[in-house]
Amino acid sequence: MGDIKIGSSQPIVIQSMTKVATTDIERCVNQIKALAKAGARLVRLAVPRRADTAAFAKIVQRVKIPLIADVHFSVERALEAIEAGAAKIRLNPGNIKSRDGINRIIDSAKMHKTAIRIGVNEASIRDLRKADVKETKRAALILTEMKKYVRLFEKRGFEQLVLSAKSRDCLRTIEINRRIAEDYDYPIHIGLTHSGLPQDSQIPSAIAIGTLLTKGIGDTIRVSAAGDPVKEVEIAKKILSSLGLYKDSKPELIVCPTCGRAEIDVIKLAGKVKKIASRFNKPVRIAVMGCIVNGPGEAADADLAVCGGKEKGYIYRHGRKIATASESDLIAVLEKELHKL
Ligand code: SF4
Repeated sequence: MGDIKIGSSQPIVIQSMTKVATTDIERCVNQIKALAKAGARLVRLAVPRRADTAAFAKIVQRVKIPLIADVHFSVERALEAIEAGAAKIRLNPGNIKSRDGINRIIDSAKMHKTAIRIGVNEASIRDLRKADVKETKRAALILTEMKKYVRLFEKRGFEQLVLSAKSRDCLRTIEINRRIAEDYDYPIHIGLTHSGLPQDSQIPSAIAIGTLLTKGIGDTIRVSAAGDPVKEVEIAKKILSSLGLYKDSKPELIVCPTCGRAEIDVIKLAGKVKKIASRFNKPVRIAVMGCIVNGPGEAADADLAVCGGKEKGYIYRHGRKIATASESDLIAVLEKELHKL
């Protein structure tokens, strides 16, 4: 997609979606730039109306990041988005009834070298709307739907595909994607649908996305969370970095949970450390620990660690004590050491 390759050994790509009307070009461009700055490498925009694809064409010209058009129900919107310069369109063929229409989309995408994500969504499969459908049947129905569409594209000689089957359910998402990966070599986009507010969505998303990634499944990821999309990217980055799949250019902060041994206000100290660390563009690990009983040992793999003592603190570099400072001087000393890294 554009200058981004996905699949095989390519890095996992974080994507997100704009959350303002696509016709509001200025706000869309700003949101895309903020997402790119946060670490998203693909951004999707909804294009429900003709005015949206017209705006999409203008937005494509103003941002560097490849854009995906999210199309539902309309053959015309898909064709317009492809012509407008979409690097990929997300299509749920289940809600486009005309076979001829799908063929026209495929032919145009082929001509423009636009990728297509076949996004099967359980809400669009009528038989799945019944509450009493057994779990195994649910996965089978989604897979059958996916197979039907993939055949449609392959028969027309189109293989620039990405597959996705999302659900709001963690275990179902894992199971379906495991089976898709068994059956196909196409890149897979993974994530949960409508998983909640950021604080509620991060754990289910981390479980579903993280489990799949540890099995080598998933080429692009999206954390769906209500609210500011930059939060989605931050959670996605955290998931990837926890699995060693993302190296942040900003310092990583580790803070001990605190306990009765803490001799310093760990939370207050961590807040101050976070503030100074955010000014640095270095992929280093900084630890804030409450005591020297366990702190130095547990922070041994940190580039820098501050361990609390009584009204003072100790600074360690790569597990070795390098300075002692009063509580009021700790931050200044740490900042100086950060410069040296
Ligand atoms: S580092 Fe010290 S204060 Fe923090 S949790 Fe461990 S033992 Fe408790």
